[in-house]
Amino acid sequence: MPTDPYAWIEPSLATIHQANWYRSVQTIQSRPGATVVLEGREVINFASNDYLGLAGDERLIEAAVGAAKEFGTGATGSRLITGHRQLHRELESAIASLKQTEDALVFSSGYLASLGAIAALVGGRDLILSDQYNHSSLKNGAIVSGATVIDYPHCDVADLKNKLGQHRQQYRRCLIITDSVFSMDGDLCQIPYLLDLAEEFSCMLLVDEAHATGVLGKTGAGCVEHFGCSDRTLIQIGTLSKALGSLGGYVAGNATLIDFLRNRAPSWIYTTGLSPADTAAALAAVKIVQQEPLRRARLWRNVGILKNLLRLPNLKLLPSESSILCLQLNNAAEALKMGQKLKDAGIFAPAIRPPTVPTSRIRMTVMANHEPVHFQRLLEALMEG
Ligand SMILES: *Cc1c(COP(=O)(O)O)cnc(C)c1O
Repeated sequence: MPTDPYAWIEPSLATIHQANWYRSVQTIQSRPGATVVLEGREVINFASNDYLGLAGDERLIEAAVGAAKEFGTGATGSRLITGHRQLHRELESAIASLKQTEDALVFSSGYLASLGAIAALVGGRDLILSDQYNHSSLKNGAIVSGATVIDYPHCDVADLKNKLGQHRQQYRRCLIITDSVFSMDGDLCQIPYLLDLAEEFSCMLLVDEAHATGVLGKTGAGCVEHFGCSDRTLIQIGTLSKALGSLGGYVAGNATLIDFLRNRAPSWIYTTGLSPADTAAALAAVKIVQQEPLRRARLWRNVGILKNLLRLPNLKLLPSESSILCLQLNNAAEALKMGQKLKDAGIFAPAIRPPTVPTSRIRMTVMANHEPVHFQRLLEALMEG
């Protein structure tokens, strides 16, 4: 009798449950913000990447509605075949202006920007050196590219240098890839050192500014600006869906790079362009980032407040230089328990467990529109029982 070829799925799911790795989605019933209605109950939100509180901003909503009314809901095809809107180019110019680069290219998501850029830049004869804590989009981009991938220990520049010395010569091109703000830890990669190494060993450097765009740097350009490296040659990718409150991703860099990507990045060429509404919302957000530095100042003030509150002997706060703060817990079961305890107390802060991260934790993201009372409530909930 033939066996059921799908029969393996149920036991696999059971294994995920047994390891406390099972995940499911919770429903939000309000606009995004510092507080949200989660499954019928108002909670304080430490689970969103909407760092500047723009996803619920009236101006972004107006921009999205206006663009949908004027241009319709869908981009109706890939930009090369179907054509694009002036809005797409306006957004790309705005991103390039924010990033202080010659040009930029917007993708349908940050994930697709990573996949497309990496796959376009390297291939079978090339080498990728990748931080072991990199985001899934970078890791999968590396796999899709067909290049040889070597991981280096998290932020270990000395080890990276050794590996470059050992392997660089055997390959045609070399690309170093890294998150700039590590998404599940909140620490930063040392961009100046990576740029020096890239120069020394003739490598390209690609940094993922997903959690840095709008957040870090004097003008909100990101981690590259934070480290004073805006005038150096590198490839920056990022998302429109975190501090920019919309949906989509981008690559920013020099004009030749961007022109090349328009011709070689499969996840840009063979997918539908960004919708007019998402494009217009992101464009409005970039302008707000540039015109309202106070939002960023408020975010960093809040990060400072929460960090101080969490400096307690019985809490293991992971080192962070961003608006992502993590409390380490001993295992997945403990993290789940803590997540549930917080939820019961009206705090939305997710437990992050393997396989997303090697060690379990509660991950909290700070927003510009959090109020001191929100942090007080979080602390009380953490201290209970
Ligand atoms: C969220 C994220 C992405 C993906 O961006 P999307 O626009 O959500 O697809 C890529 N890299 C990092 C580091 C991220 O945190």
